[in-house]
Amino acid sequence: MVERRRDADIIVVNTCTVTATADSKARQALRAAHRANPDAVVVAAGCYPERAADDLRRIPEVSLVVGNQSKPDLVAMAVSESARRRGIADDADPRADDPAPAGILRRSRAMVKIQEGCDQVCAYCIVPKVRGRERSIRPTEIVDVVRRYVNSGFKEITLTGTQLGTYGFDLNGEDLPSLLDWILGETDLPRLRVSSLQAHEISTGLLARWNDPRLCPHFHVPLQSGSDVVLKAMRRRYDTDTFRRAVANIRELLPDAAITTDVIAGFPGESEHDHAAGLGLIREIKFADAHVFPYSQRPGTSAHHMPNQVSPEDKRRRAGELAAAASIGFQEFRGHLAGTVRPVLWETAKPVGAGTMLWSGLTDNYVRVSAESGAALGNRITPARLRNLTGKTMRALALIDSSPE
Ligand code: SF4
Repeated sequence: MVERRRDADIIVVNTCTVTATADSKARQALRAAHRANPDAVVVAAGCYPERAADDLRRIPEVSLVVGNQSKPDLVAMAVSESARRRGIADDADPRADDPAPAGILRRSRAMVKIQEGCDQVCAYCIVPKVRGRERSIRPTEIVDVVRRYVNSGFKEITLTGTQLGTYGFDLNGEDLPSLLDWILGETDLPRLRVSSLQAHEISTGLLARWNDPRLCPHFHVPLQSGSDVVLKAMRRRYDTDTFRRAVANIRELLPDAAITTDVIAGFPGESEHDHAAGLGLIREIKFADAHVFPYSQRPGTSAHHMPNQVSPEDKRRRAGELAAAASIGFQEFRGHLAGTVRPVLWETAKPVGAGTMLWSGLTDNYVRVSAESGAALGNRITPARLRNLTGKTMRALALIDSSPE
């Protein structure tokens, strides 16, 4: 691992293809990687190659195209291509399984994948096509990866996948709650985060695991639409009442939990009435943050062929209105936290004066904070008193008298 792109022999861009915008950003990132380092092997990896490998092969800046199925061979392929270009023997030891030390990546947080694929097939989603059927990774393997990250200095792990709530259905007697028990019981990891859960998967048994303070009180629960008619057309497996219940259950146990979401604006057939229902639900729930996407027509999904596609102007307008409604929740959530003390994992810093740095960190409940301090806070978790919101970040006072970790 190197710090600067221009020092790299190989640059891997792990692409997303969930929307047309994601495709466009991936192409931009690939071209930018080549511009920054024309000698490097630029690898397009991940879901975009799985959907449209030939499109990527036609981009002159791209040296290698590696889909999800071939990812286990990615390092060997890239090293071999790099060696070929430089006219040297392909005898490198890529050590693909070793997580890079936290110091080199300047990262305190890492992601660990616990499952792959999705069996749900929502009408708008290309993910099942590019990621295949659901399969879970064994808890012993996951614990092993988490341990190695902890030994490398990482302080926080986020468990990722496409369908975390059904984790373990293909393993004898395992499920997501038991996996959380494994990780918390078998490692010294200070912080564990779960990336995303669907509303109907948030059971009381699962929520009970959050009595352990090492599990971060942050729940990303995709809403996608605030209209039951649209949710049904999307083939989501919950309705708005189920969603409300899940939110209420989380807040009953963890009143300061961040509940964040994704919303799609302008799904085919979405009426102004449906859109108003979505606005109403966002105002009612007051999410700590929301990603609002205009619906993107993906070839290969059933929604692509649906009649009553919403015009681009209406999608844009509705997305803007939903985002404006969501921003009120963003501000109110942080407003309620002003004056409280939360544990912050400090990640990066830039100098702001003689001996003083402006540190940036993340609270357990997923609030980005910054604090000026002359202390070496990097990769430490300290309490911090949250003050006020400036832009998207809360100013805070790091309470560093607490014992360093
Ligand atoms: S649950 Fe639906 S939206 Fe999520 S990955 Fe599966 S098909 Fe896509």
